Amino acid sequence: MNSDNYDDLIKRDAEVLWHPYSAAPAPILPYAVKSASGVRLTLHDGRQLIDGMSSWWAVIHGYNHPVLNVAMSAQLEDMAHVMFGGLTHEPAVLLAEKLLAITPPGLARVFFCDSGSVAVEVAIKMAIQYWFSLGRPSKKRFLTIRQGYHGDTFAAMSVCDPVSGMHHLFSDLLMPQVFAKAPRIPFDGVWDESETDEIKEFVKARHGELAAIILEPIVQGAGGMRFYHPQYLNRVRELCDEYDLLLIADEIATGFGRTGELFACNYAGITPDILCLGKALTGGYMSFAATLTKAFVSEVISQKGPGVLMHGPTFMANPLACSVALASIGLLENSCWRESVVEIEGLLKTGLEPCRELPAVKDVRVLGAIGVVETRNPVDVRRVQEMVVDRGVWLRPFANLCYTMPPFVTGADEVRQITSAIKEALS
Ligand SMILES: *Cc1c(COP(=O)(O)O)cnc(C)c1O
Repeated sequence: MNSDNYDDLIKRDAEVLWHPYSAAPAPILPYAVKSASGVRLTLHDGRQLIDGMSSWWAVIHGYNHPVLNVAMSAQLEDMAHVMFGGLTHEPAVLLAEKLLAITPPGLARVFFCDSGSVAVEVAIKMAIQYWFSLGRPSKKRFLTIRQGYHGDTFAAMSVCDPVSGMHHLFSDLLMPQVFAKAPRIPFDGVWDESETDEIKEFVKARHGELAAIILEPIVQGAGGMRFYHPQYLNRVRELCDEYDLLLIADEIATGFGRTGELFACNYAGITPDILCLGKALTGGYMSFAATLTKAFVSEVISQKGPGVLMHGPTFMANPLACSVALASIGLLENSCWRESVVEIEGLLKTGLEPCRELPAVKDVRVLGAIGVVETRNPVDVRRVQEMVVDRGVWLRPFANLCYTMPPFVTGADEVRQITSAIKEALS
């Protein structure tokens, strides 16, 4: 496509489309992608960009992967979709068995859904129904930590950070939840028991009305890109056990190796009562998610009260999505993802550390294949994006954060290209 056509496409986009978290038309023009392969996006005008975002945490194996392509086209020959009410199929059974085998021990049942936000809705519903079925309907609120992000639907929004989630806009529509301070001690900081004083107080005072604690384990993603101490998770698990609360871990961003462990809960050796997965579940091929739970939760909901979980998306357990998810987990298991993530972590540290010297920069932090540069003032998204694109890199900064989570297959030179693009753009 020549550049006339490129400009035409951008112009027509502005006339009819609405982009995420954006005005319509978007004040910053989008870039038009023609195709993607490996770690690179190819734009309609021929430019190639290394994807430092993995399409929002999802594309861990790179684009256009032959194994994932084959898994999806083979499934397409059998069936693209079939309803899940009253019917089942092999891809769903195999994927559920696989997820239960690789997630923290003790989870026993899988509920498939369409997207991460819906997985969180389902988790919230499960927790409310669990206590309702046990004859304790007053336990229906959720305790969470500030600077969290759990999705864009209403129940999910109610547990997002009240400021970045713009609670004031929806003030009388969101379920009022309980917010504890975000953990302060960093991932590799020195643990101090006072870190959990406040959340303990909240639990002690309000456990009678709380159904669950919901949080993102170790890495708070879109709510601030913060990494906290694993001991915090251990203490929260103990609190939930002591005061009769369910623990919901939202691993939609952290799952499947991104933090250096297969699941971030593994850093603390805990199993949540309910676990949400999404994003990298299908290697970035399809919108798909899952809510996993322990047997006691599904048993109580199934045996008492209404006796059913009140949820069932039309495209639940879509066979194409199940098949490509299975293939993606297979790729992960047959790869040296741990070594790759450690290598990327080292390169991100070396490459981003010099940013600390820049006057605009407040903090630099790296965990697993996640590199974050926090700036003192909001990033000029248009300027930074243009600068990194000029350097052959795709990034999408937001607020005070310029960050990267490249595919696990990103080579050393490519990671260096990403980190130098960030450094130059913030200089
Ligand atoms: C992205 C994300 C969600 C929402 O997932 P969608 O697929 O965008 O609905 C929920 N929780 C966390 C932690 C996420 O990173």
